[in-house]
Amino acid sequence: MIGILGGTFDPIHYGHLRTALDVQQALGLSQIKLIPLSDPPHRDAPTSTPQQRLDLLKAAVEDEPLLTIDTRELERRGKSYTVDTLLSLTAEQPDETFCLLLGSDAFNGFPLWKEPNQILSLCHLVVMQRPGETDPTHYQDRITHNPSDLSTKASGLILPLSVTQLEISATQIRMLLQHGKSPRYLLPDPVLQQILEKKLYQ
Ligand code: ATP
Repeated sequence: MIGILGGTFDPIHYGHLRTALDVQQALGLSQIKLIPLSDPPHRDAPTSTPQQRLDLLKAAVEDEPLLTIDTRELERRGKSYTVDTLLSLTAEQPDETFCLLLGSDAFNGFPLWKEPNQILSLCHLVVMQRPGETDPTHYQDRITHNPSDLSTKASGLILPLSVTQLEISATQIRMLLQHGKSPRYLLPDPVLQQILEKKLYQ
């Protein structure tokens, strides 16, 4: 079973990395694919180029084989829709089971995404929550709290899962850099080193 975490990763930080590893460990996934998007449908365009964001991602995961990078959204033209990504992943690996990782706030807006029901026919969802957070209120008939249920079906289940809470955002890191302050310890040192060398976000 493979996990998928999409994002702008502008830049990647420990909030993304630790939660991805939390989910991988909790579910015993063979890998988590980090999928940088090119043109996000629901937010402003990223401030750094696709190649810069990709190079930062590579620096972040170079010594962690459980976290891999998938560049298909950067290579596709137009908006990055999750349904299209899942259609291409499942066409390539029809016997594999995929789990899409979503924060609980992203899951709140999930019914408004392009083709949410088709997404649920292609993968399971893992909703990453704060400890003690209540269950999502939509798609209640699909919710399970038992991770082993995910291997009994190919798709369509929703697993709420508590993950480490790190109050880190890419916005905060960009703001610190813009103000000449250090974002060290919010993101891996090799990522910061590259940001400083290339004078990104300044
Ligand atoms: P920005 O501040 O630019 O909006 P971000 O830090 O939220 O960026 P994204 O690339 O937009 O990062 O996030 C990709 C995914 O990672 C989203 O599903 C988001 O909910 C999740 N995520 C981001 N930051 C954290 C964090 N600190 N802890 C857990 N999940 C996070």
